[in-house]
Amino acid sequence: MDISAKIKKYKEELPENVKLVAISKTKPSEDIMEAYNAGQKIFGENKVQEMTDKWEELPKDIEWHMVGHVQSNKVKYMAHYVSLIHAVHKLKLLKEIDKRAKEHERVIKCLLQVKIAEEDSKYGMDAAEVDKILASDAYKEMENVKVIGLMGMATLTNNEEQIKQEFQFLKNKYDEVAAVNKDFTTLSMGMSGDYKIALDCGTTMVRIGSSIFGERNYN
Ligand SMILES: *Cc1c(COP(=O)(O)O)cnc(C)c1O
Repeated sequence: MDISAKIKKYKEELPENVKLVAISKTKPSEDIMEAYNAGQKIFGENKVQEMTDKWEELPKDIEWHMVGHVQSNKVKYMAHYVSLIHAVHKLKLLKEIDKRAKEHERVIKCLLQVKIAEEDSKYGMDAAEVDKILASDAYKEMENVKVIGLMGMATLTNNEEQIKQEFQFLKNKYDEVAAVNKDFTTLSMGMSGDYKIALDCGTTMVRIGSSIFGERNYN
């Protein structure tokens, strides 16, 4: 299947309340334009420089999501256009996003990344840290950043039961916060290999790369 057929397949398959973020990291602009012309308007990247190059070159009605780990000193390069930052892993990063968003008179939406995988290689905070950040005076004073939900990456394993437990854990945490926090609208979980399990567990946003654009040579 080519890229536009894949986009159409996902648009048909995903429930209406689930957003598709097409993860275009390492892929050329021609591939993004093929998806765009098939109706896809949300794209995700994991490197700020690469995303900014693509933002400059491509149609301005594309929503760009940063899904990778972000270093504080890189926030300034995307603060003028980024739509959603998926993987905020600490309060300090949120402070920097707030500061840079203010310079552009924007409010930048963010998700807090919760560590749900067993692998040490995956970033994220524990569930208690989510409450701590949202309840902190520092966060309450931020006017230019809005945390609208949570993001997580499951363990890379064939054990579907384990993936399901990890997603279910994140969904439970999300529901707990969303019950008292009206900003919470978005739960980002599920990738090419595990999005079906994420759908079963109540995801509202899937991040799909290789199954749309083909395998990557590097990450
Ligand atoms: C690369 C990436 C994806 C997409 O992974 P695929 O397996 O290619 O679908 C999703 N989320 C994040 C954070 C990524 O870095």
